[in-house]
Amino acid sequence: MRAGSGLVNPGVADSPGDGPAIRVRIAPSPTGPLHIGTARTALFNFLFARRTGGTFILRLEDTDLERSTPAYEKDILEGLRWLGLGWDEGPGLPGELDRGPYGPYRQMERLARYTSISAGLLADDKAYYCYCTAAELDAERKRLEAARLPPRYSGRCAHLSAAERAAFEAEGRRPAIRFRIEPGSVVFDDLVRGRVEIDASALGGDLVIVRAGGTPLYHFCVVVDDAAMKISHVIRGEDHLSNTPKHILLFRALGEAEPRFAHLPLILNPDRTKMSKRKSQTAVDDYIGEGFIREGMVNYLALLGWSTGSEEEILGIDEIAARFSLEHIQKGGAVFDRGRLEWLNGQWIRRLSPTELVDRLRPFLQEEADGARIDRLPADSELELLMPLVQERLPVLGAIGHLVDFLFSEHIDLEPALLVPKRWDRATALDGLGYARVTIGEVAQADFEPDQLEAPLRALAEAHGWKAGDLFMTIRVAVTGRTATPPLFQTLVALGRERVLGRLDLAIALLAAGAGEGG
Ligand code: GLU
Repeated sequence: MRAGSGLVNPGVADSPGDGPAIRVRIAPSPTGPLHIGTARTALFNFLFARRTGGTFILRLEDTDLERSTPAYEKDILEGLRWLGLGWDEGPGLPGELDRGPYGPYRQMERLARYTSISAGLLADDKAYYCYCTAAELDAERKRLEAARLPPRYSGRCAHLSAAERAAFEAEGRRPAIRFRIEPGSVVFDDLVRGRVEIDASALGGDLVIVRAGGTPLYHFCVVVDDAAMKISHVIRGEDHLSNTPKHILLFRALGEAEPRFAHLPLILNPDRTKMSKRKSQTAVDDYIGEGFIREGMVNYLALLGWSTGSEEEILGIDEIAARFSLEHIQKGGAVFDRGRLEWLNGQWIRRLSPTELVDRLRPFLQEEADGARIDRLPADSELELLMPLVQERLPVLGAIGHLVDFLFSEHIDLEPALLVPKRWDRATALDGLGYARVTIGEVAQADFEPDQLEAPLRALAEAHGWKAGDLFMTIRVAVTGRTATPPLFQTLVALGRERVLGRLDLAIALLAAGAGEGG
């Protein structure tokens, strides 16, 4: 199976038609909930696969046993599915797609392969056993630190004789396996960053690939798997750029073809530091919980480091895939702009059909009911009538509560001070509400429509020399408890004549009793 269909374009520059089949992967570690950065990387891989007719693979890098959990794994899989980033091969797919020639796709199920490949590197003397203890390595690191030198393995175990090894074994030391980093410079042509050259001396010395105790480590597993899974393009965050030379040296040592690399710009906090939990909301789940929708999220994530090269901004995933190219990925960091995300999300909420919007709002209204912020759950038909009033006012689905709660609660919380607009005093507010009560009371039930309400209320404001906005604000607060609501006259109609009059009476009584003083 291929990612999507009908978008095969072997002619694009990133994807040599006569080269090996395009296979890309997202390789999250289930050590935390799905992160915005992982979601963006997954999306870019998915888009590249869609654009080129390639295969999008999910691999779980779960060898960190202390930090990996099934709950995080579930969160990641569900988050990717929610975003619409279905994978063509990987965990959770039926039969061959999970167990096929390139599977399994969980690293903990691939341990035998790492063991046999590390044995091969040992046999070829491309790797060696290292008996240094954690305490010895720590002392070495501190010595370098004191001398203001970068951390680097000394190579103490690089050339042990059989007798030396036997002596360490006799002491009961268990060896790690280190890969020999040969001197020289590593050069590669990054599809985003261009030519990258890093001297091997900057790589920290020979690299532990298997821990004492037998756990294989990230740099090793990632290369073994990318080779075994025939990954053609490694598209990942720029934080991995400095790892790539190590990976290239490992590919070479294994006699495997190197994939092409594309490093995506970092996602930044608004202060341009690397996006972090402390300064930004990073879990995709939290965005889902607020009521961001997949269309808005995908659109925003795609623009986080990539652009169409034109003014186009609001694009669905198929439109993005049709335009996607690695060449249009920027080098500089991409600032996470929540305002823009909300704006795009709001645009996508506007594009939903009323029925679809009602469907997606249901869980959020349920939350309002569970939290006793509304007394009853409205019926679908009732909600559909309201959609034209709220659809343009929702940056996120979770904002629905504030927009409609007063319709589905008998009691509203009235903050008396809000009944008195800035330019008014309490007496004017009392007057305004009193006259409005009379004016609205004169509109018969049969005529209770927006236009029939608006005209006399405007005339009322004019007759008293009030700004219409002030009068409307005090009415709005009196009947909803809120200063921001859907359009006032439609809101009055949705509330119904009796409830409007009842709430106006309550507000008048509240103000008359002396509340709202000094407002
Ligand atoms: N497990 C690694 C991570 O989550 C994968 C990095 C890579 O794509 O090579 O950062």
